[in-house]
Amino acid sequence: MTAAATAPRRPTLAVHKFASCDGCQLSLLDCEDELLDIAQAVEIAYFLEATRATAKGPYDIALVEGSITTAHDLKRIRAVRRQAKVLVTIGACATSGGIQALKSLADTDDYINAVYAHPRFISTLDTSTPIADHVPVDYELRGCPIDRGQLLHVLTALLHGRQPRLPNHSQCVE
Ligand code: SF4
Repeated sequence: MTAAATAPRRPTLAVHKFASCDGCQLSLLDCEDELLDIAQAVEIAYFLEATRATAKGPYDIALVEGSITTAHDLKRIRAVRRQAKVLVTIGACATSGGIQALKSLADTDDYINAVYAHPRFISTLDTSTPIADHVPVDYELRGCPIDRGQLLHVLTALLHGRQPRLPNHSQCVE
């Protein structure tokens, strides 16, 4: 039997982006030294912002940044949920709809016509909604951007099979 055959399988991590500025993903990349340790403890299976990894799921942990603003987002977040054992939303966009949720207060067509030269090419929902409005979420990390220490705590706890200790409002599933 080869060493590769006996090596324990590393948990897989996927990072998904929806409507957002990428700032929370950058907070993850900003973890530098800690990220190197994490990268050795997990297989980064899907993270378009930082790697070429586009492995298919299922994934042990999925981090989700951004809000739901299109019909395509709706289909995609359901697929992400089906493929994730643990789903963690990161940042105000994903946990509350973000600054882009202001569009829910106005006429979306007015905005589209004011901003885009060819409005007919724009396909969007009238709202920007949090991920938890559409699929079950296991943990939520709030903030804009997220707190890097809290992110590292959650990842480290999950990788060690422990339950992350978060403020009650951030923990969605016991
Ligand atoms: Fe960017 Fe803030 Fe949204 Fe994070 S929560 S993706 S920093 S706008």
